[in-house]
Amino acid sequence: MPDKGVPDVELRGVSRRYAPPPGESATDEVRAVDNVSLRVGPREFFSLLGPSGCGKTTTLRMIAGFVVPNDGEILIRGEDVRNVPPYRRNVNTTFQSYALFPHLDVFENIAFGLRRKGMRKAEIGEKVAWALSLVRLEGFERRSPRDMSGGEQQRVAMARALVNMPAVLLLDEPLSALDEKLRRHMQLELKRIQREIGITFILVTHDQEEALTLSDTIAVMNRGRVEQVGPPRALYESPATRFVAEFIGATNFLDGTAVERGFVRLAGGQTVRVPENDPAGAAVQVCVRPEKMWLAARVETGSLNALPGKIVDVVYQGAVTRYRFALEGGAQVFVTRQNTEPAAFSEDAAAELFVHWAPDASRVYQS
Ligand code: ATP
Repeated sequence: MPDKGVPDVELRGVSRRYAPPPGESATDEVRAVDNVSLRVGPREFFSLLGPSGCGKTTTLRMIAGFVVPNDGEILIRGEDVRNVPPYRRNVNTTFQSYALFPHLDVFENIAFGLRRKGMRKAEIGEKVAWALSLVRLEGFERRSPRDMSGGEQQRVAMARALVNMPAVLLLDEPLSALDEKLRRHMQLELKRIQREIGITFILVTHDQEEALTLSDTIAVMNRGRVEQVGPPRALYESPATRFVAEFIGATNFLDGTAVERGFVRLAGGQTVRVPENDPAGAAVQVCVRPEKMWLAARVETGSLNALPGKIVDVVYQGAVTRYRFALEGGAQVFVTRQNTEPAAFSEDAAAELFVHWAPDASRVYQS
């Protein structure tokens, strides 16, 4: 696990605002990043995850030094970098577009920064060879980036960013230009490289699966703010807000009203048990993941929720089957079943079934 000592990168109350687009009133100032505080520990694989426009790229660019915050402090290894220009910060960035020099070969692309620093030729040769072996591109020294696949170009960009061993590597949607299969492969490669060299990676992505696969820690962003920070498991199992529950993984939401300690009356009239308490009368949503629900022909005993209804739709997906299930009263939920054994209930649309879940498997959010 990453060491949580002095953070490699720390943001304290960082904000970045932009003037409103032409034609809009001054009150419509864009809060691209709004009072964000984060700590990224040494050797951590940290992801900024969120939908388009939530402020992740702006956050990354402020760490890199390309964008200046309006408020707040950014510290890299404990040093306030307010007056440190991008090229003197102990970070490097890889961009979505790779930004390789097309007229230089692979060796020269990687050596570029080292030459500008005036490093000796022999040392440059050693470092480039090391970086190429790290990204498994030995033998590509004299190739032009123009004659390389997207995945190979991505590796060259990584080698160039890592050849100097920065304290932190910033990655802005580095895999988004790759096709699905290559992207999955490169995800494993990113993780391997990060483990092998043991430096901190901060990744910007809108792809929740990518963030879950790669990260030690994820910060979920929404409208310029951080909604929750935590390891993938915590975000999936205990989403702090409705936004996080919806953004990470599939989720069922059932509208209702808190009626008394630990009970919610659903809009369809049924009462269910929930783990948390909201003041009676509050409008709430009960959130349950599809894989935490199961179907059965009869009500099972124990402290479970069991609501009657019928299957509307069955989708067989190999490892799992997904059911759309209509509750009495009109609401529908998705239920996922592992195909480890045949279903113990009729999948027929006419069959009367019960959907079950444990109260502890649900969470409640105020509407
Ligand atoms: P994406 O995934 O689409 O790149 P993002 O989460 O990285 O999105 P940002 O690029 O950080 O989002 O943008 C956050 C908000 O700030 C957006 O509403 C964007 O339009 C606005 N914004 C970003 N840069 C500028 C700028 N230079 N001038 C004006 N508004 C900007």
